[in-house]
Amino acid sequence: MQTERAEQYGRCAAILEQDFQVPGAGGVFDQALTNGLAAIVAHEWPGEESTVQKNGDRRMKAASGLLSVIRTHLDESTPGIRTIPDKEVRSGIPFWGEDKDPPSFDVTIEVDVLLDALDQTQPVRHARGIGALAEAHVDALIKLDDHISLRRLSEARQDSEWVKDQIRDRYEQQRAADYLHLIGEAEAERRASGAIEYLPVASKERLLDFGLDECPVCSYEALRVTDMDDFGLGVGGGTCIVCSYVRSSATADDQAMDFMIARHIVDD
Ligand SMILES: [Zn+2]
Repeated sequence: MQTERAEQYGRCAAILEQDFQVPGAGGVFDQALTNGLAAIVAHEWPGEESTVQKNGDRRMKAASGLLSVIRTHLDESTPGIRTIPDKEVRSGIPFWGEDKDPPSFDVTIEVDVLLDALDQTQPVRHARGIGALAEAHVDALIKLDDHISLRRLSEARQDSEWVKDQIRDRYEQQRAADYLHLIGEAEAERRASGAIEYLPVASKERLLDFGLDECPVCSYEALRVTDMDDFGLGVGGGTCIVCSYVRSSATADDQAMDFMIARHIVDD
């Protein structure tokens, strides 16, 4: 669970570091912050990262709730900032010299900046739009990576093709959503009902065809799949007949990979 949280944090933070105004940035920020803080809180104060539901299930706290935990346990080091002191024991480290202090591995949590970011992103979190995320918010998010339970950002940064493709896909989804809005519901409905006509007529050809998949933008089963993902799950690249969204092969492979990982977790 901790690894998964750290990875989610690292991937989302890497996207925002490249482009903090990417469509849906508020949602990406929230996902990064919630997972990052949950990993930190679970490491520092185990159990306090979640609450117990009526049915006995544990549910991860929202980012604001996790920041409250941090505020309960740590005093302000400077106004608006709480610091998790470096507790790692380093033995065998060469002397730093009489006049030099050893390097600090304290973790700075800019609580006020992060709370402000949540305020800014909340109203647009589930809608389209870029929100009002500022570079200072993303900087505060990135500082969390110093914590021993995270430290995933450099790994995520190295996967720069993945980061670029995530950003490209977010802009592509926004473009298609704008187009969908332009054509209106009646036209979308008409196109969706005719989507099947884009499949081959001959039964033999149809058998080999990748068919139609549900489109993540318009939700119609109208995404004409034209190539196959690496795992052969039918999440290939293609174009939506209704809203014109183009799912790239890279995005398709990534989704197939996520699906495989999720399935693996369930199997375990
Ligand atoms: Zn669509």
